[in-house]
Amino acid sequence: MSHNSQKIRVLVDLDGVIRDFIGGLTRIYRREFPDHVIKTVRSRRLEAFFPIGERIYDFIDRQFLEEILTGAPPYPGAIEAMRRWEHRFENVIVTAQPRRWRYPTFIWLGKFKVPTNEIHICYHKEAVEGLALLDDFVDNLEAFRATGRLAVCMDQPWNQDWTGPRVTSLNEFYQFVLEAVNSRNPEG
Ligand SMILES: [Mg+2]
Repeated sequence: MSHNSQKIRVLVDLDGVIRDFIGGLTRIYRREFPDHVIKTVRSRRLEAFFPIGERIYDFIDRQFLEEILTGAPPYPGAIEAMRRWEHRFENVIVTAQPRRWRYPTFIWLGKFKVPTNEIHICYHKEAVEGLALLDDFVDNLEAFRATGRLAVCMDQPWNQDWTGPRVTSLNEFYQFVLEAVNSRNPEG
C-alpha cells in the first residue's frame, strides 16, 4: 500500500454473500434425500423449505456440519472481485458463526484463498469499525445503518423487504462504495 492511498475499510459478511451456504446444504441434502423437493429458501426458517422440517438443524449441526461448511461453493465471481479490488479496499470478514462452525469456516476461507487480513466472528457487526457493510440479513443491515454508516444488501430471496441500497455482486458493491465515497469527497 502506497503511503498516499488509504484503503477503504469495508465489512463483508460470509454466508449468503461470499459462501453459498444454502447451495452447499442443498447439495448434501439431495445426496441424502434424492426424492425430496426443496422449496426456494426465503427466510432463516430452514424448516419451512426442507421437507425434513425441524430435523434440518440436526442434519446440519450433528450430521454433516464439516461437509456442508467446507464443501459449500463460493458465489461465482465473488472472490475474484475481492482480489481485483484489493488495492483499493481493506476487506474485513464479519460473520456470525456458532462456536462449532468456526473451524470449518476458517478452513473454507483458506481453501478458497479469500483475500482478507482480518476476520471477526461476532453477532454484533455494527460494533466493528468500517465504512460500509455488505450483508444478506436485514437485521444486521438495520443495526449497521443505525450507526449512520452505509449498509448494503446482497440481493437474496430472503431479504426482499430491505428498502435500502441493494447489489447483486461483490463487484457492484465496490463500485457502489467508491461512488458514495467520491460523492462525499469530490477530490478523492
Ligand atoms: Mg449472511
